[in-house]
Amino acid sequence: MSNAYDAIILGAGPAGLTAGIYLARARKRTLIIDEGTAGGQMILSHTIANYPGIIEATGASIARTMVKQAKSFGCEVLSQSKILQMSIEGEVKTVEVEYEGTYSAQAVIIATGGVPRSLGLASEQKYKGHGISYCATCDGEFFTDKEIVAVGGGNSALEEAVSLSRYASKVTVIHEFDHFQAQPWIVEEAKANSKIEYLMNQRIESFEGGDKLESVISTDKATGEKNTTPAEGCFVFIGYIPNTASFEGVLKLNERKEIVADENLATNIPGVFAAGDNRSKKFRQITTAVADGTVAALSAIEYIEKRKGAPA
Ligand SMILES: Cc1cc2nc3c(=O)[nH]c(=O)nc-3n(C[C@H](O)[C@H](O)[C@H](O)COP(=O)(O)OP(=O)(O)OC[C@H]3O[C@@H](n4cnc5c(N)ncnc54)[C@H](O)[C@@H]3O)c2cc1C
Repeated sequence: MSNAYDAIILGAGPAGLTAGIYLARARKRTLIIDEGTAGGQMILSHTIANYPGIIEATGASIARTMVKQAKSFGCEVLSQSKILQMSIEGEVKTVEVEYEGTYSAQAVIIATGGVPRSLGLASEQKYKGHGISYCATCDGEFFTDKEIVAVGGGNSALEEAVSLSRYASKVTVIHEFDHFQAQPWIVEEAKANSKIEYLMNQRIESFEGGDKLESVISTDKATGEKNTTPAEGCFVFIGYIPNTASFEGVLKLNERKEIVADENLATNIPGVFAAGDNRSKKFRQITTAVADGTVAALSAIEYIEKRKGAPA
């Protein structure tokens, strides 16, 4: 079988898998390469309740269905595959995969997603998915009438604290500095909210509980005083790391290292498109990733068709 494809998609999260479905269904020979497990961040989510058409399901089951759907149209999926090198600047793009060989394509869609920044504590790993979350939109409702903590002091931390106060009985914002890094109007809105309290200048030491989270332990950085904040949920909003390190110096990235793409999701390199959480955008959800995958695939199809029609 030839290693020449119409399109190669890097990343098999919801953005990449959706792009694969559209491209393969349009009879474009398509290969998805994922350095990890197909399904992306979805497989970390125990319950997904905000994906239209599915009332509630595990992320893993939605991921499996997406992979099956992409393969049903002939899309090939390589997972746990280490990319050794790639060249995406020329007309013919190439990707070399360890133990597999070198694949070429006319178009490439970068759908490598990202990861929420974590505090790096061992106890954080223990309670991930058992009280600790990184997404208020995804998990806020599960903490209706509960006391929770929001970690962080930037725009998204305070915006999400306000949004979480719609569900929770009390939200304690724990921040590492004695001042916020958020816009003044967001700080004002959060401060005017009677359900939100603040613990400033804190170092988070650990998360405590049994099977589920019960409290957040922090220390005042100035006085050394130890604080125990009862919390059934803790939302960590201390930033987001897009998986774009391999594209630095090749693709145009913004100051947060997110890929800059236009409304058709074209990047600065002809034939290279970006989709999903790795690109510059505000809202990161499965639905927005899937929408990106659709747009990037349709743009890639148009690009491939135009090239076919182009004089040699
Ligand atoms: C715990 C958790 C719960 C969530 N819950 C919800 C929810 O309930 N509802 C909701 O809408 N959203 C939820 N989200 C957010 C949602 O999962 C993401 O917005 C979505 O998965 C982003 O899709 P993506 O395809 O852009 O990227 P990802 O899902 O991040 O997938 C990217 C894929 O690319 C691969 N990859 C990375 N680098 C490379 C590389 N260099 N080459 C090849 N492959 C690479 C990764 O292994 C990964 O499989 C949740 C996120 C988390 C972490």
